[in-house]
Amino acid sequence: MSEKLSWPGDAEIAVALTFDVDGDPSLESIVGAEAAQRLSTASYFRYGPTNGVKRILEVLATRAVPATFYVPGATALAYPDSMRAIAAGGHEIAHHGHHHLKLLGLPAELQRDEVERGVEALQSVTGTLPRGYRAPFGELTPETLALLVTHGFVYDSSCQGDDSPYLEAAGKIVELPFAWELVDASHFFALGDIGRAVGHPDAVMGHWWTEFEEALARQQMLTLVLHPEIIGRGAKLAAFASLIDRMLGTGRTWFATHRQVADLVLAAVVTGSPEERSGAD
Ligand SMILES: [Zn+2]
Repeated sequence: MSEKLSWPGDAEIAVALTFDVDGDPSLESIVGAEAAQRLSTASYFRYGPTNGVKRILEVLATRAVPATFYVPGATALAYPDSMRAIAAGGHEIAHHGHHHLKLLGLPAELQRDEVERGVEALQSVTGTLPRGYRAPFGELTPETLALLVTHGFVYDSSCQGDDSPYLEAAGKIVELPFAWELVDASHFFALGDIGRAVGHPDAVMGHWWTEFEEALARQQMLTLVLHPEIIGRGAKLAAFASLIDRMLGTGRTWFATHRQVADLVLAAVVTGSPEERSGAD
């Protein structure tokens, strides 16, 4: 985007809280055929769509803050009650694959299955077509980006080409970028032989607060990428709730779903310059 977006009202920053609800149906995409043998690891991931989502929804409801939940189709089918609770809270549910397969090297027909089965599953559980997408493992491919256009998606959140929203796919997809340092797993993914990141919640929230201040000074956008099985536990959730309160306390924060931001970007493009309308990115 060549012109700075303006956020609604007096807001000087847009903050998108996003939760990737991978869940235990995604375990095979992470550990392969061992998934069936790993009861302990499966239980860690099961915590996400069950306890983690419940606790996060309480934190969001208390503060009347909306969020975006990226859910693999298979996880939505396995935990329909959690999906209904998310939707009932006024939050957005977006697409995160079907079996959460890593796209890199995946044959084109399986990439198509991942998109189409995920759409079907989310629509059958929530009654709503997902309009946003985040690639599992945060690696988008040309094949899947083209499928997003074909299937009428409005936005993607898998890339890192700017600090602010920009356009992809010749202007057909709004990109809502994320950053790996703003992903909870980068700091807190401690899981036996799979992950050994044990950050201190207060230190990580301090880091994210500095990122917030930086984005606020530039009147930009901040997307946090969180996982209910990670951030939804103990001291991490308490520290995260305090971070939301601190952001609210500035009186200048627009907490928005990714769909709300994407719609605002599209409206700006329509009324923007001919260069923007042509979809130059
Ligand atoms: Zn994921």
